[in-house]
Amino acid sequence: MSEAELVLRSTRVITPEGTRAAAVVVAAGKITAVLPYDASVESAARVEDLGDDVLLPGLVDTHVHVNDPGRTEWEGFWTATRAAAAGGITTLVDMPLNSLPPTTTVDNLRVKQRVAADKAHIDVGFWGGALPDNVKDLRPLHEAGVFGFKAFLSPSGVDEFPHLDQDRLAQSLAEIASFGGLLIVHAEDPHHLAAAPQHGGPKYADFLASRPRDAEDTAIAQLIAQAKRLDARVHVLHLSSSDAVPLIAAAKAEGVRVTAETCPHYLTLTAEEVPDGASEFKCCPPIRESANQDLLWQALADGTIDCVVTDHSPSTADLKTDDFATAWGGISGLQLSLAAVWTEARRRGHGLEDVVRWMSSRTAELVGLDRHKGAVEVGRDADFAVLAPDETFTVDPAALQHRNRVTAYAGKTLYGVVKSTWLRGERVVVNGEFTEPRGRLLTRTH
Ligand SMILES: [Zn+2]
Repeated sequence: MSEAELVLRSTRVITPEGTRAAAVVVAAGKITAVLPYDASVESAARVEDLGDDVLLPGLVDTHVHVNDPGRTEWEGFWTATRAAAAGGITTLVDMPLNSLPPTTTVDNLRVKQRVAADKAHIDVGFWGGALPDNVKDLRPLHEAGVFGFKAFLSPSGVDEFPHLDQDRLAQSLAEIASFGGLLIVHAEDPHHLAAAPQHGGPKYADFLASRPRDAEDTAIAQLIAQAKRLDARVHVLHLSSSDAVPLIAAAKAEGVRVTAETCPHYLTLTAEEVPDGASEFKCCPPIRESANQDLLWQALADGTIDCVVTDHSPSTADLKTDDFATAWGGISGLQLSLAAVWTEARRRGHGLEDVVRWMSSRTAELVGLDRHKGAVEVGRDADFAVLAPDETFTVDPAALQHRNRVTAYAGKTLYGVVKSTWLRGERVVVNGEFTEPRGRLLTRTH
Protein backbone atom coordinates (compact mmCIF):
# COMPACT_ATOMS: atom_id res chain seq x y z
CA MET A 1 0.00 0.00 0.00
CA SER A 2 1.35 3.45 -0.84
CA GLU A 3 1.78 6.02 1.93
CA ALA A 4 -1.53 7.34 3.16
CA GLU A 5 -1.88 11.00 2.25
CA LEU A 6 -5.20 11.54 3.97
CA VAL A 7 -7.43 9.99 6.59
CA LEU A 8 -11.02 11.18 6.96
CA ARG A 9 -12.81 10.10 10.12
CA SER A 10 -16.55 10.36 10.55
CA THR A 11 -19.02 8.78 12.93
CA ARG A 12 -21.28 8.30 9.89
CA VAL A 13 -19.64 6.99 6.73
CA ILE A 14 -22.05 5.66 4.11
CA THR A 15 -20.55 2.46 2.71
CA PRO A 16 -22.14 -0.25 0.53
CA GLU A 17 -22.59 -2.29 3.74
CA GLY A 18 -24.39 0.51 5.57
CA THR A 19 -23.62 3.56 7.66
CA ARG A 20 -20.93 3.26 10.31
CA ALA A 21 -18.19 5.11 12.14
CA ALA A 22 -15.04 4.72 10.10
CA ALA A 23 -11.67 6.13 9.10
CA VAL A 24 -11.31 6.31 5.34
CA VAL A 25 -7.70 6.12 4.17
CA VAL A 26 -6.69 7.74 0.88
CA ALA A 27 -3.50 7.38 -1.15
CA ALA A 28 -2.80 8.56 -4.69
CA GLY A 29 -6.39 9.78 -4.99
CA LYS A 30 -7.96 6.41 -4.23
CA ILE A 31 -9.52 4.82 -1.18
CA THR A 32 -7.00 2.32 0.16
CA ALA A 33 -8.71 1.24 3.38
CA VAL A 34 -11.91 1.72 5.37
CA LEU A 35 -10.88 1.16 9.00
CA PRO A 36 -12.57 1.48 12.38
CA TYR A 37 -13.16 5.10 13.38
CA ASP A 38 -10.34 5.32 15.89
CA ALA A 39 -7.77 3.20 14.03
CA SER A 40 -4.35 4.81 14.08
CA VAL A 41 -2.78 5.40 10.70
CA GLU A 42 0.82 6.23 11.47
CA SER A 43 1.96 7.30 8.04
CA ALA A 44 -0.90 9.67 7.26
CA ALA A 45 0.16 13.14 6.16
CA ARG A 46 -3.24 14.63 7.04
CA VAL A 47 -6.00 13.50 9.32
CA GLU A 48 -9.37 15.22 9.47
CA ASP A 49 -12.11 14.39 11.89
CA LEU A 50 -15.52 15.27 10.45
CA GLY A 51 -17.28 14.39 13.67
CA ASP A 52 -20.94 13.65 13.06
CA ASP A 53 -21.03 15.12 9.57
CA VAL A 54 -21.78 12.33 7.11
CA LEU A 55 -19.13 11.19 4.65
CA LEU A 56 -20.77 9.91 1.49
CA PRO A 57 -19.53 9.10 -2.00
CA GLY A 58 -19.59 12.12 -4.30
CA LEU A 59 -22.74 12.11 -6.42
CA VAL A 60 -22.60 11.04 -10.06
CA ASP A 61 -25.03 13.09 -12.14
CA THR A 62 -25.46 11.50 -15.55
CA HIS A 63 -27.90 14.06 -16.95
CA VAL A 64 -26.54 17.60 -17.25
CA HIS A 65 -26.78 20.11 -20.12
CA VAL A 66 -23.70 22.30 -19.98
CA ASN A 67 -24.26 24.14 -23.33
CA ASP A 68 -20.56 24.96 -23.74
CA PRO A 69 -19.41 26.00 -26.33
CA GLY A 70 -22.04 27.78 -28.37
CA ARG A 71 -24.64 28.64 -25.75
CA THR A 72 -22.23 29.39 -22.95
CA GLU A 73 -24.39 32.33 -21.90
CA TRP A 74 -26.93 29.66 -20.85
CA GLU A 75 -24.37 27.59 -18.95
CA GLY A 76 -20.67 26.78 -19.19
CA PHE A 77 -18.30 24.17 -17.78
CA TRP A 78 -16.80 26.63 -15.29
CA THR A 79 -20.13 27.57 -13.72
CA ALA A 80 -21.87 24.20 -14.04
CA THR A 81 -19.04 22.26 -12.41
CA ARG A 82 -18.79 24.80 -9.58
CA ALA A 83 -22.54 24.50 -8.96
CA ALA A 84 -22.20 20.71 -9.02
CA ALA A 85 -19.26 20.71 -6.62
CA ALA A 86 -21.12 23.01 -4.25
CA GLY A 87 -23.96 20.50 -4.26
CA GLY A 88 -21.81 17.43 -3.52
CA ILE A 89 -21.59 16.16 -7.11
CA THR A 90 -18.12 14.97 -8.17
CA THR A 91 -18.87 13.53 -11.62
CA LEU A 92 -21.22 14.76 -14.32
CA VAL A 93 -21.97 13.41 -17.76
CA ASP A 94 -22.81 16.13 -20.25
CA MET A 95 -25.74 15.83 -22.63
CA PRO A 96 -24.99 16.07 -26.36
CA LEU A 97 -27.35 18.90 -27.12
CA ASN A 98 -27.80 22.60 -26.50
CA SER A 99 -24.09 23.22 -27.03
CA LEU A 100 -22.90 24.19 -30.50
CA PRO A 101 -21.71 21.94 -31.92
CA PRO A 102 -23.81 19.11 -30.50
CA THR A 103 -21.83 15.96 -29.59
CA THR A 104 -22.80 14.02 -32.69
CA THR A 105 -19.41 13.35 -34.36
CA VAL A 106 -15.95 12.59 -33.02
CA ASP A 107 -14.73 16.00 -34.19
CA ASN A 108 -17.50 17.67 -32.22
CA LEU A 109 -16.65 15.58 -29.15
CA ARG A 110 -13.06 16.80 -29.41
CA VAL A 111 -14.30 20.41 -29.50
CA LYS A 112 -16.31 19.86 -26.33
CA GLN A 113 -13.45 18.09 -24.56
CA ARG A 114 -11.07 20.93 -25.41
CA VAL A 115 -13.48 23.50 -24.02
CA ALA A 116 -14.16 21.54 -20.84
CA ALA A 117 -10.57 20.51 -20.07
CA ASP A 118 -9.36 23.47 -18.03
CA LYS A 119 -12.73 24.56 -16.64
CA ALA A 120 -13.83 21.34 -14.94
CA HIS A 121 -14.00 21.57 -11.15
CA ILE A 122 -15.26 17.99 -11.07
CA ASP A 123 -14.87 15.01 -13.40
CA VAL A 124 -16.75 15.32 -16.68
CA GLY A 125 -17.80 12.71 -19.23
CA PHE A 126 -19.87 13.00 -22.39
CA TRP A 127 -22.89 11.41 -23.99
CA GLY A 128 -23.06 11.26 -27.77
CA GLY A 129 -26.15 12.10 -29.79
CA ALA A 130 -28.13 9.85 -32.17
CA LEU A 131 -29.62 11.90 -35.00
CA PRO A 132 -31.53 10.75 -38.09
CA ASP A 133 -28.41 11.18 -40.24
CA ASN A 134 -25.44 10.16 -38.07
CA VAL A 135 -25.66 6.37 -37.79
CA LYS A 136 -22.17 6.16 -39.31
CA ASP A 137 -20.80 8.33 -36.48
CA LEU A 138 -22.11 6.18 -33.63
CA ARG A 139 -19.41 3.51 -33.55
CA PRO A 140 -16.54 6.03 -33.86
CA LEU A 141 -18.07 8.05 -31.00
CA HIS A 142 -18.39 4.87 -28.92
CA GLU A 143 -14.74 4.08 -29.58
CA ALA A 144 -13.78 7.66 -28.71
CA GLY A 145 -15.27 7.10 -25.27
CA VAL A 146 -18.77 8.56 -25.06
CA PHE A 147 -20.86 6.77 -22.42
CA GLY A 148 -23.81 6.11 -24.73
CA PHE A 149 -26.16 7.95 -27.06
CA LYS A 150 -29.09 10.22 -26.51
CA ALA A 151 -32.07 10.35 -28.83
CA PHE A 152 -35.33 12.26 -28.83
CA LEU A 153 -38.58 10.71 -30.05
CA SER A 154 -40.24 14.15 -30.29
CA PRO A 155 -38.81 17.59 -31.16
CA SER A 156 -35.89 18.44 -28.87
CA GLY A 157 -36.36 22.20 -28.67
CA VAL A 158 -33.28 23.00 -30.79
CA ASP A 159 -33.13 22.70 -34.59
CA GLU A 160 -29.66 21.17 -34.75
CA PHE A 161 -30.79 18.10 -32.82
CA PRO A 162 -33.70 16.54 -34.75
CA HIS A 163 -35.67 13.62 -33.30
CA LEU A 164 -35.87 10.02 -34.50
CA ASP A 165 -39.05 8.49 -35.89
CA GLN A 166 -39.65 4.80 -35.18
CA ASP A 167 -37.75 3.63 -38.29
CA ARG A 168 -34.73 5.78 -37.48
CA LEU A 169 -34.91 4.69 -33.86
CA ALA A 170 -34.76 1.06 -34.98
CA GLN A 171 -31.81 1.81 -37.25
CA SER A 172 -29.80 3.67 -34.59
CA LEU A 173 -30.64 1.15 -31.89
CA ALA A 174 -29.57 -1.79 -34.07
CA GLU A 175 -26.25 -0.07 -34.72
CA ILE A 176 -25.73 0.75 -31.03
CA ALA A 177 -26.63 -2.82 -30.03
CA SER A 178 -24.06 -4.14 -32.54
CA PHE A 179 -21.24 -2.74 -30.40
CA GLY A 180 -22.92 -3.25 -27.02
CA GLY A 181 -23.70 0.44 -26.47
CA LEU A 182 -26.43 2.17 -24.50
CA LEU A 183 -29.24 4.33 -25.93
CA ILE A 184 -30.79 6.88 -23.57
CA VAL A 185 -34.11 8.30 -24.70
CA HIS A 186 -36.30 11.34 -24.25
CA ALA A 187 -39.53 9.39 -24.53
CA GLU A 188 -42.55 11.47 -25.52
CA ASP A 189 -44.56 10.44 -28.58
CA PRO A 190 -44.87 13.31 -31.08
CA HIS A 191 -48.32 12.21 -32.32
CA HIS A 192 -49.80 12.29 -28.83
CA LEU A 193 -48.22 15.69 -28.25
CA ALA A 194 -49.64 17.01 -31.53
CA ALA A 195 -53.09 15.71 -30.61
CA ALA A 196 -53.05 17.34 -27.15
CA PRO A 197 -54.66 20.77 -26.64
CA GLN A 198 -52.02 23.46 -27.26
CA HIS A 199 -53.41 26.64 -25.67
CA GLY A 200 -50.16 28.34 -24.75
CA GLY A 201 -50.15 31.20 -22.29
CA PRO A 202 -49.31 31.50 -18.62
CA LYS A 203 -51.63 28.85 -17.11
CA TYR A 204 -49.73 25.84 -15.78
CA ALA A 205 -52.80 23.62 -16.17
CA ASP A 206 -52.81 24.34 -19.91
CA PHE A 207 -49.14 23.49 -20.18
CA LEU A 208 -49.66 20.24 -18.28
CA ALA A 209 -52.52 19.29 -20.61
CA SER A 210 -50.25 19.94 -23.60
CA ARG A 211 -47.75 17.25 -22.45
CA PRO A 212 -50.07 14.41 -21.39
CA ARG A 213 -48.95 11.23 -19.67
CA ASP A 214 -50.02 9.07 -22.59
CA ALA A 215 -47.36 10.74 -24.76
CA GLU A 216 -44.74 9.36 -22.38
CA ASP A 217 -46.47 6.02 -21.88
CA THR A 218 -46.76 5.37 -25.62
CA ALA A 219 -43.17 6.33 -26.38
CA ILE A 220 -41.87 4.17 -23.53
CA ALA A 221 -43.95 1.19 -24.69
CA GLN A 222 -42.51 1.59 -28.20
CA LEU A 223 -38.98 1.91 -26.90
CA ILE A 224 -39.34 -1.22 -24.78
CA ALA A 225 -40.70 -3.12 -27.79
CA GLN A 226 -37.70 -2.07 -29.90
CA ALA A 227 -35.22 -2.93 -27.13
CA LYS A 228 -36.81 -6.35 -26.73
CA ARG A 229 -36.80 -7.06 -30.48
CA LEU A 230 -33.16 -6.04 -30.87
CA ASP A 231 -31.94 -7.26 -27.47
CA ALA A 232 -30.58 -3.75 -27.02
CA ARG A 233 -29.85 -1.80 -23.84
CA VAL A 234 -32.00 1.32 -23.36
CA HIS A 235 -32.53 3.87 -20.62
CA VAL A 236 -35.62 6.03 -20.12
CA LEU A 237 -34.64 9.60 -19.33
CA HIS A 238 -36.49 11.86 -16.88
CA LEU A 239 -39.53 9.67 -16.24
CA SER A 240 -42.44 11.83 -15.16
CA SER A 241 -45.58 9.79 -15.91
CA SER A 242 -46.25 7.26 -13.16
CA ASP A 243 -48.59 5.48 -15.61
CA ALA A 244 -45.49 4.18 -17.38
CA VAL A 245 -44.10 2.54 -14.23
CA PRO A 246 -45.97 -0.78 -14.72
CA LEU A 247 -44.68 -0.97 -18.32
CA ILE A 248 -41.09 -0.61 -17.13
CA ALA A 249 -41.60 -3.05 -14.26
CA ALA A 250 -43.08 -5.67 -16.60
CA ALA A 251 -40.27 -5.22 -19.12
CA LYS A 252 -37.64 -5.63 -16.43
CA ALA A 253 -39.37 -8.75 -15.10
CA GLU A 254 -39.29 -10.16 -18.62
CA GLY A 255 -35.55 -9.53 -18.90
CA VAL A 256 -35.68 -6.58 -21.30
CA ARG A 257 -32.57 -4.47 -20.72
CA VAL A 258 -34.26 -1.25 -19.71
CA THR A 259 -33.46 1.16 -16.89
CA ALA A 260 -35.12 4.43 -15.90
CA GLU A 261 -34.32 7.66 -14.13
CA THR A 262 -36.39 10.43 -12.64
CA CYS A 263 -35.43 13.91 -11.43
CA PRO A 264 -35.49 15.95 -8.22
CA HIS A 265 -38.20 18.27 -9.59
CA TYR A 266 -40.62 15.40 -10.28
CA LEU A 267 -39.96 14.04 -6.79
CA THR A 268 -40.17 17.29 -4.83
CA LEU A 269 -42.36 19.78 -6.73
CA THR A 270 -45.98 19.35 -7.79
CA ALA A 271 -48.22 20.78 -10.50
CA GLU A 272 -50.58 22.02 -7.80
CA GLU A 273 -47.96 24.43 -6.44
CA VAL A 274 -46.71 25.92 -9.73
CA PRO A 275 -47.89 29.53 -9.99
CA ASP A 276 -49.26 30.61 -13.36
CA GLY A 277 -46.56 32.27 -15.47
CA ALA A 278 -43.75 30.71 -13.40
CA SER A 279 -41.77 29.12 -16.21
CA GLU A 280 -38.81 28.40 -13.95
CA PHE A 281 -40.93 25.27 -13.30
CA LYS A 282 -41.23 24.40 -17.01
CA CYS A 283 -39.59 21.21 -18.20
CA CYS A 284 -40.52 18.44 -20.61
CA PRO A 285 -42.02 16.10 -19.67
CA PRO A 286 -43.70 18.33 -17.09
CA ILE A 287 -43.91 18.29 -13.31
CA ARG A 288 -47.19 16.45 -12.65
CA GLU A 289 -49.76 16.12 -9.83
CA SER A 290 -48.90 15.10 -6.28
CA ALA A 291 -50.66 11.72 -6.64
CA ASN A 292 -48.36 11.02 -9.60
CA GLN A 293 -45.38 12.00 -7.44
CA ASP A 294 -46.34 9.48 -4.74
CA LEU A 295 -46.22 6.70 -7.33
CA LEU A 296 -42.79 7.82 -8.58
CA TRP A 297 -41.48 7.54 -5.01
CA GLN A 298 -42.99 4.06 -4.75
CA ALA A 299 -41.27 3.06 -8.02
CA LEU A 300 -37.98 4.41 -6.74
CA ALA A 301 -38.37 2.51 -3.49
CA ASP A 302 -39.15 -0.79 -5.25
CA GLY A 303 -36.36 -0.35 -7.80
CA THR A 304 -38.48 0.07 -10.94
CA ILE A 305 -36.92 3.51 -11.26
CA ASP A 306 -33.18 3.02 -10.93
CA CYS A 307 -31.75 6.44 -10.28
CA VAL A 308 -32.20 10.19 -9.81
CA VAL A 309 -30.39 12.78 -11.93
CA THR A 310 -30.84 16.52 -12.27
CA ASP A 311 -31.54 17.11 -15.98
CA HIS A 312 -29.98 20.50 -15.21
CA SER A 313 -30.93 22.45 -18.33
CA PRO A 314 -30.67 26.20 -17.94
CA SER A 315 -31.09 29.09 -20.34
CA THR A 316 -30.68 32.82 -20.00
CA ALA A 317 -33.34 34.39 -17.79
CA ASP A 318 -34.97 36.26 -20.70
CA LEU A 319 -36.00 32.94 -22.31
CA LYS A 320 -37.95 32.07 -19.18
CA THR A 321 -40.97 34.14 -20.21
CA ASP A 322 -44.39 33.80 -18.62
CA ASP A 323 -45.84 31.93 -21.62
CA PHE A 324 -45.42 28.23 -20.93
CA ALA A 325 -45.69 27.36 -24.63
CA THR A 326 -42.71 29.42 -25.74
CA ALA A 327 -40.56 29.72 -22.58
CA TRP A 328 -37.39 27.61 -22.55
CA GLY A 329 -38.06 24.24 -20.92
CA GLY A 330 -35.49 23.14 -18.38
CA ILE A 331 -34.87 23.26 -14.64
CA SER A 332 -31.57 24.21 -13.06
CA GLY A 333 -30.95 21.76 -10.27
CA LEU A 334 -27.25 20.93 -9.94
CA GLN A 335 -26.46 22.68 -6.70
CA LEU A 336 -29.69 21.77 -4.94
CA SER A 337 -30.42 18.23 -6.09
CA LEU A 338 -28.97 16.41 -3.08
CA ALA A 339 -30.70 18.66 -0.55
CA ALA A 340 -34.01 18.67 -2.44
CA VAL A 341 -34.16 14.90 -2.79
CA TRP A 342 -32.91 14.28 0.76
CA THR A 343 -35.51 16.68 2.21
CA GLU A 344 -38.37 14.82 0.57
CA ALA A 345 -36.81 11.39 1.08
CA ARG A 346 -36.48 11.89 4.83
CA ARG A 347 -40.06 13.16 5.03
CA ARG A 348 -41.16 9.94 3.34
CA GLY A 349 -39.10 7.73 5.66
CA HIS A 350 -36.15 6.93 3.39
CA GLY A 351 -32.56 6.99 4.61
CA LEU A 352 -29.57 8.84 3.28
CA GLU A 353 -28.28 5.41 2.14
CA ASP A 354 -31.20 5.29 -0.31
CA VAL A 355 -30.39 8.74 -1.67
CA VAL A 356 -26.76 7.70 -2.15
CA ARG A 357 -27.87 4.57 -3.99
CA TRP A 358 -30.15 6.56 -6.32
CA MET A 359 -27.81 9.51 -6.96
CA SER A 360 -24.33 7.98 -6.83
CA SER A 361 -24.06 4.16 -6.94
CA ARG A 362 -26.74 3.47 -9.55
CA THR A 363 -25.78 6.36 -11.80
CA ALA A 364 -22.14 5.22 -11.70
CA GLU A 365 -23.35 1.76 -12.70
CA LEU A 366 -25.49 3.17 -15.50
CA VAL A 367 -22.41 4.58 -17.25
CA GLY A 368 -20.02 1.81 -16.23
CA LEU A 369 -18.00 3.99 -13.87
CA ASP A 370 -18.67 1.79 -10.85
CA ARG A 371 -15.10 0.56 -10.59
CA HIS A 372 -14.06 4.15 -9.86
CA LYS A 373 -17.06 6.10 -8.60
CA GLY A 374 -20.28 5.68 -6.64
CA ALA A 375 -19.19 4.15 -3.34
CA VAL A 376 -16.92 4.60 -0.33
CA GLU A 377 -15.06 1.37 -0.92
CA VAL A 378 -11.43 0.29 -1.32
CA GLY A 379 -10.16 0.84 -4.85
CA ARG A 380 -12.59 3.59 -5.81
CA ASP A 381 -11.67 7.24 -6.32
CA ALA A 382 -11.60 9.29 -3.13
CA ASP A 383 -14.56 11.44 -4.24
CA PHE A 384 -16.69 12.53 -1.30
CA ALA A 385 -19.37 14.89 -0.15
CA VAL A 386 -19.45 15.87 3.51
CA LEU A 387 -23.03 16.53 4.52
CA ALA A 388 -24.72 17.88 7.62
CA PRO A 389 -28.02 16.10 6.98
CA ASP A 390 -30.00 17.67 9.81
CA GLU A 391 -29.01 21.27 9.13
CA THR A 392 -31.35 23.35 7.00
CA PHE A 393 -30.95 26.31 4.68
CA THR A 394 -33.33 28.48 2.71
CA VAL A 395 -32.66 28.64 -1.02
CA ASP A 396 -31.38 32.07 -2.00
CA PRO A 397 -30.89 32.39 -5.77
CA ALA A 398 -27.97 34.77 -5.15
CA ALA A 399 -26.04 31.91 -3.52
CA LEU A 400 -26.25 29.66 -6.58
CA GLN A 401 -23.18 29.04 -8.71
CA HIS A 402 -24.82 28.20 -12.03
CA ARG A 403 -24.65 30.94 -14.61
CA ASN A 404 -28.28 32.09 -14.67
CA ARG A 405 -29.63 32.16 -11.17
CA VAL A 406 -33.13 31.09 -12.09
CA THR A 407 -34.44 28.37 -9.79
CA ALA A 408 -37.70 26.58 -9.10
CA TYR A 409 -36.57 26.13 -5.49
CA ALA A 410 -36.28 29.80 -4.47
CA GLY A 411 -37.39 30.34 -0.87
CA LYS A 412 -37.67 26.65 -0.05
CA THR A 413 -36.15 25.45 3.19
CA LEU A 414 -34.17 22.28 2.60
CA TYR A 415 -32.38 19.77 4.80
CA GLY A 416 -28.78 18.86 4.09
CA VAL A 417 -25.90 21.33 4.02
CA VAL A 418 -22.88 20.27 1.95
CA LYS A 419 -19.86 21.25 4.05
CA SER A 420 -17.17 20.21 1.61
CA THR A 421 -16.65 18.20 -1.56
CA TRP A 422 -13.56 16.13 -2.34
CA LEU A 423 -12.19 14.91 -5.64
CA ARG A 424 -9.52 12.18 -5.59
CA GLY A 425 -8.60 13.10 -2.04
CA GLU A 426 -8.41 16.87 -2.58
CA ARG A 427 -10.96 19.29 -1.26
CA VAL A 428 -12.44 21.16 -4.24
CA VAL A 429 -14.94 23.27 -2.33
CA VAL A 430 -15.33 24.07 1.32
CA ASN A 431 -17.99 26.44 2.65
CA GLY A 432 -18.45 28.04 -0.74
CA GLU A 433 -14.73 28.54 -1.45
CA PHE A 434 -13.38 26.76 -4.53
CA THR A 435 -9.89 25.58 -5.44
CA GLU A 436 -8.57 25.86 -8.99
CA PRO A 437 -10.29 23.35 -11.30
CA ARG A 438 -8.82 19.87 -10.94
CA GLY A 439 -11.51 17.77 -12.61
CA ARG A 440 -10.59 15.25 -15.27
CA LEU A 441 -12.28 14.33 -18.51
CA LEU A 442 -13.66 10.79 -18.35
CA THR A 443 -14.26 8.30 -21.11
CA ARG A 444 -16.16 5.04 -21.18
CA THR A 445 -12.90 3.13 -21.23
CA HIS A 446 -11.47 5.15 -18.30
ZN1 LIG B 1 -32.19 16.70 -20.51
